[in-house]
Amino acid sequence: MKPTDRCGTCGVPVGISRTMTWTDEGLIRQRRDPAHRMIFFESENLDRLWETMCSELGVTREHLWEIVIAAKSRATRAFLKRSLPWYLNTVSRLVGYRAMIRTIELQGLAMGYGKITVGGQFPERGRPRRITVYIEDPYSVPLFCGDFKGAAEVLERRAAGITYQALDSRRHQIEVALGEEKLEEEEFRVDGEKMARSCGVAYMRCVECGAPMDLQEFEWDLETGIIREKETGRRLAFFGTPGLKAVFGELVHELGERVIDIIVDGERRNTLASMTHEEARGGPELLRKKAALRGLGYLEEFSLQDDTLRVSMCNPAVDPYLVGLALGVYELMTGKYGRATWSREEDFLNIEIKP
Ligand SMILES: [Zn+2]
Repeated sequence: MKPTDRCGTCGVPVGISRTMTWTDEGLIRQRRDPAHRMIFFESENLDRLWETMCSELGVTREHLWEIVIAAKSRATRAFLKRSLPWYLNTVSRLVGYRAMIRTIELQGLAMGYGKITVGGQFPERGRPRRITVYIEDPYSVPLFCGDFKGAAEVLERRAAGITYQALDSRRHQIEVALGEEKLEEEEFRVDGEKMARSCGVAYMRCVECGAPMDLQEFEWDLETGIIREKETGRRLAFFGTPGLKAVFGELVHELGERVIDIIVDGERRNTLASMTHEEARGGPELLRKKAALRGLGYLEEFSLQDDTLRVSMCNPAVDPYLVGLALGVYELMTGKYGRATWSREEDFLNIEIKP
């Protein structure tokens, strides 16, 4: 079955249920590489986030994207190196990039990344020096560039450079040029997620493919590679948390701690724009369910007393995202702008919000 074939019972693409599993820890893990954690998250705010960082920190888009692409490609490299079937390196030499990229293309449609098509490679046969792809409605241009660069680097074991240009408002052309420099073994390593705490999250699962039945709240358009929440129309995609953490970590390293404030505030705004009052006031059970389905972790505590909101998240995914989310929910619930303090304690992220 192709990644874009749908389960006959629940309709979720097999590219999702076959490659990922929703665990009782409130996590989404890659089946082939369980240390690789994923989140299923709103994607449209990402490119907005990069723009905000550029204007707030006074850096050019080129510079910021360069940092994002470099960090994402390192994470992709490490992930693919660990998880690609052993024969792919050999096979790719024989069948060429088209077959390999065809697989990435189909998987990308199922993951909500947009529609990827291969342009061409130069020279046409043998080891490529340049490869062109087109992507329509990308989930994020710089993250996709990082993925593509990382994939080429894993197959060729050589460093690659990347160029990109917008063709129109939806389509982008991206070209990878492979260099001569050999990549060393340590350039394929990145920290995976350690084991997480079991939290007893239970799902109604599809009897045929095992995916949570709640995924039926989303609509997969497998022609365009766009996943939307049926009720709100919000677009989502699957992101690897090691990749996101690597990108955010590198941005902090290069541009300073203010990056974290911008991510938190971006996510707060995003929550305000996309979440309804009913959802925010739906109580801990509803928020717990939504958080786990997105792979964000298990919402252990969520209590609003007087004007103070206390949130404790077990196995938290990406801390600044969760703090921003909590701030947004707080604002929707109380009508007040909140200030957050947060700390990590073993497997828990504890957030306190006051007006
Ligand atoms: Zn199913």
